[in-house]
Amino acid sequence: MKLLINCQRSSELISQRLDEKLGLSQKIQLRMHLAICKACPTTVKNFNLLRNQFKNWKNYTENSD
Ligand SMILES: [Zn+2]
Repeated sequence: MKLLINCQRSSELISQRLDEKLGLSQKIQLRMHLAICKACPTTVKNFNLLRNQFKNWKNYTENSD
């Protein structure tokens, strides 16, 4: 298993994580990368914001009928 991944791979994993499709090794790879990278934690924050907005939008559409 390759532990060190690059930022491109990291952002792929971050977006996959939104769908909760990450395996254990992928989670470890992502965690390792986030520990050493300065840029990707920001990407995680942005994705979390997007996810929250999506949730709100989903609630809104589900409750609007
Ligand atoms: Zn990175």
